[in-house]
Amino acid sequence: MSPKILESPSMQPSVTSREGYSFSLVNIDCLRDSTHFNIVMDLEASIEELLPYLAARLPGCTYTHGTGVINVMDAGHIVGIYPERITVTDVTGFEEASELCAKYFTAIRETQADRSSITPVLRKRPTITVMDILRVLPGTNCGACGSATCMAFAAGVFRRESIIWACLPLHDGSEGLEGLLDQLRDNGYPVP
Ligand code: SF4
Repeated sequence: MSPKILESPSMQPSVTSREGYSFSLVNIDCLRDSTHFNIVMDLEASIEELLPYLAARLPGCTYTHGTGVINVMDAGHIVGIYPERITVTDVTGFEEASELCAKYFTAIRETQADRSSITPVLRKRPTITVMDILRVLPGTNCGACGSATCMAFAAGVFRRESIIWACLPLHDGSEGLEGLLDQLRDNGYPVP
């Protein structure tokens, strides 16, 4: 089916219809020549029951069963996946938006098809906090991880934007490290 573009995406929301969904581009800057848009993608059918299965297939995503939203960082975009809507921040224009929408709709379709072989994510609440991570870090604010402070790094790990092993001094061992790694694993974080 060919896309139906109702309005130019440059100044006001446009709607493009595809089989199974439609999407709009929201101009963040409100400038005619802007290259910063957010995507609002509306799904024709609710995927509420599919969320725990989709969460199991999206690497690095954050999902707490019962909240009705999956959050994931995707190449600098913040993606929110809701039962009937997907939002994606900061795309450059229609082509990128079109590719990202197709990518997420394909992920939905594939998850539906493979559902019986997927172990759903059913954990209720994260059992880890930024302070749990910070407590085990060396606390020297050396910057080797790329963050200015250990606190900033701990927050990045908690948000799944950094991995714990990027703190190089931790490689020499630290009191409480094994316990923290177990806690991260239990909460679905990538742990080496
Ligand atoms: S590398 Fe480790 S000790 Fe250094 S700032 Fe980053 S978290 Fe802190």
